Amino acid sequence: MNIHAQLRFWTIDALRGTNIVATLKKLRKEQYLDNQTLAHLSNTNFKEFVKEVIPATPYYTNLGANLTSSILTKELIRKNTPSFFSKGFTKKSFAKGTGGSTGAPLVYYTTNEAQSFMWAGILLSWETLGYQLGDKVAFVAGTSLGKNDLKHVVFHQLLNVTTYSAYHLNDADIESYLTRIINSKTKLIYGYATAINRIAEYILKSQIAFSFPHLKGIVSTAEILSAKHRDNIEQAFNVKVHNQYGCNEAGISAFECDFGNLHYINSATRIEYDKEGNVLATNLVNKAFPMVRYFTGDKFEVVENVSCPCKRGYPIIENFAGRTCDMVIDKQNKVMHSAFFNVLFRDNHHIEQFQVLFNDQKLTIYLQLDREDLPREMFTHYLDVLKGIMDFDDYAIEINVPFLSAENAKHRYVINTALGATTPA
Ligand SMILES: [Zn+2]
Repeated sequence: MNIHAQLRFWTIDALRGTNIVATLKKLRKEQYLDNQTLAHLSNTNFKEFVKEVIPATPYYTNLGANLTSSILTKELIRKNTPSFFSKGFTKKSFAKGTGGSTGAPLVYYTTNEAQSFMWAGILLSWETLGYQLGDKVAFVAGTSLGKNDLKHVVFHQLLNVTTYSAYHLNDADIESYLTRIINSKTKLIYGYATAINRIAEYILKSQIAFSFPHLKGIVSTAEILSAKHRDNIEQAFNVKVHNQYGCNEAGISAFECDFGNLHYINSATRIEYDKEGNVLATNLVNKAFPMVRYFTGDKFEVVENVSCPCKRGYPIIENFAGRTCDMVIDKQNKVMHSAFFNVLFRDNHHIEQFQVLFNDQKLTIYLQLDREDLPREMFTHYLDVLKGIMDFDDYAIEINVPFLSAENAKHRYVINTALGATTPA
């Protein structure tokens, strides 16, 4: 890496107290260890984690023998937050909010080590497409990737990242985004699959022949990348698209290689399953606020004994599923993941929970508030965002109306009423 890029990342680490560069260097080597060595490493890390962290954390000492069969939900963390701090961890920890795809927003605590790992994992995914530290990157995202306070502005400048809002994607916005992406010689685009796909669709139907001579690739994150979207994006930008998947509170970080395999970094997390095949993850990186057998809300299978032509030994995630019921599909067959709504509503602290109902004609959002009503301007804002991004004949927002629940009484975020469900009772 050149001196300029080195300075940028040294400054990031120095300002934030992180060690992103060192962690990335470690992962660059580690990824090529063989799968047996990596499985052993993952096991050793898990054992050390259990030995060191669990006895120091009141929540787990109270659980006692039930630890191995316990399942940690967002609800449990919310109800018992103070007892999740490890007494053995003396360094700084700080609060982080997460939307996730299932569950109301959760506040948990993270560390500089865990943050370094998260960023190193993302950079590693970018590197699979030829990204070099310091390259110009475009984020196409909502608030979860592109926060706007001063701290984040400085951080993004040092990372050499420009943020483009995934919520403002009318034709004029897209045109100005594309001009900026081309003029700034952007090397990599990172963001939500559905948002990047919308830009791709614009390019494909446009009379203008856009070209991206500096672009090395596109990394899609936070949503499932459908085959159709991948095709659209690759065709429009004329570069390869790789998938990246991260569940930060669970320490899960996965990236796609040139051979289409989604490798996950098993030295940082231990994956188990509940009876229904839902992924339970133990985050081995966060030692301040230990999360053991955490219910991620995701479903996928893991192939441990990989022999990928890319020579990486990290296991492979396959059959990513279980979230398809969380998809909203509009009149144009555009697919929007429930995570989109999570991000949209997350910053409004009056919204306790939401549910999205849709059929061929109408999109209805049910909001549970801690107050009587939504201010007029918020109401208009949400409707504008929804209308801008999805195509229905009719849109509605209902306040404090009971949610429709599934048979197993779990909250459902998205319900397709065309499939037989009735309106909330
Ligand atoms: Zn591979």
